[in-house]
Amino acid sequence: MFEKDRAWIELNKDNFIHNINVLESGLPQGCRMMPCVKANAFGHGAVPISKMLHEHGTRDYCVACLSEAVELREAGIEGQILILGYTDPADLSALYEYDLSQTVVDCAYGKVLNAFGKPLRVHVAIDTGMRRIGERSEHVDEIAGLWSLDNLNIDSIYTHLSSADETEGEGREFTLKQIEAYDRLVNELHSRGITDFRTHVLASSGIANYSEHGYDYIRPGALIYGIEGKPSDDSPKRLGLRHVLELKAKVSTVRKLYPGDCVSYSRTFKADHEMLCASVGFGYADGMPRELSNRWNALVNGKVCPMIGTICMDFLMLDVSEVPDVHPGTEVVLIGKSGNETIRACDMAFAAGVNTNAVLSQLSHRLGRIVV
Ligand SMILES: *Cc1c(COP(=O)(O)O)cnc(C)c1O
Repeated sequence: MFEKDRAWIELNKDNFIHNINVLESGLPQGCRMMPCVKANAFGHGAVPISKMLHEHGTRDYCVACLSEAVELREAGIEGQILILGYTDPADLSALYEYDLSQTVVDCAYGKVLNAFGKPLRVHVAIDTGMRRIGERSEHVDEIAGLWSLDNLNIDSIYTHLSSADETEGEGREFTLKQIEAYDRLVNELHSRGITDFRTHVLASSGIANYSEHGYDYIRPGALIYGIEGKPSDDSPKRLGLRHVLELKAKVSTVRKLYPGDCVSYSRTFKADHEMLCASVGFGYADGMPRELSNRWNALVNGKVCPMIGTICMDFLMLDVSEVPDVHPGTEVVLIGKSGNETIRACDMAFAAGVNTNAVLSQLSHRLGRIVV
């Protein structure tokens, strides 16, 4: 309702659809996109992102948990929505009511799902080395046994790669071993006459680095948003993908600082000359890492402005001494482009010592999401 109030996210629709087209044009015959819109679409906004996908024609989605899946259904998203995580047995009726697909996190959980008593569409997770979820790929008998459970409507078996961002050395060896273990299981099942299932393995780094391995769905997260996992990650650029998100806020008030004035909690910044300070309506509750206090910048009218003082829950302060004509309402770019300057999400995350997803997924629900 107040989309462009004190701070907001702009989603570039052309860039987003461009990314989807690029990824779809690289798909092997018969392979479908199952974009990953978990964690509020990596902070971008699950509803607006999924609506753009839906309008584009996408009919397969994956999310982390039941509440995310229900949010999409209630926003009118049709097609398959796969929950990649665990759903509490007490909530299984919601899977049925909302026609959601559930991950079988191990064979014991498969029996729990079966005991619900009504047919559920499922994807069986296979552990090939990540050691997070999935039945171990060596347990062929147990996995094959899932097909004898009457209430499981098995769409797929899938696995997840732990190291596909590495293209050489041990990481490459490990990745190829995971893929081998997965392929071996698929062949085993086929040789037992179990063939009515689809396959999926690749998420973003797998698509970027191991795309010669096909399968029936891909599950790209980061790549659909064009985001680099870290500043040295060149895969989005190499694939011709574009950033979708810009993060903006407004100046609330501007004041002069005199020598000796201290800014914000605990007086971590002290002015040693006269300067101009803008308070911006964006804080750590909006997703700005507090660790960046006195260590990072924002863009105002094409100029790089240092953040000064401790970042607060709802405010941060900028040194705008070098920027002409800053006033309440002036736009501040926290991620994105202003004039000739750009701040990428990965740069901000790297400065805070975390990965890009860790910053983007923390962007608050109180920010408006505007499709431009
Ligand atoms: C998060 C996740 C994805 C998407 O991840 P990206 O690396 O961003 O593409 C795909 N599959 C699973 C199982 C995931 O947990």
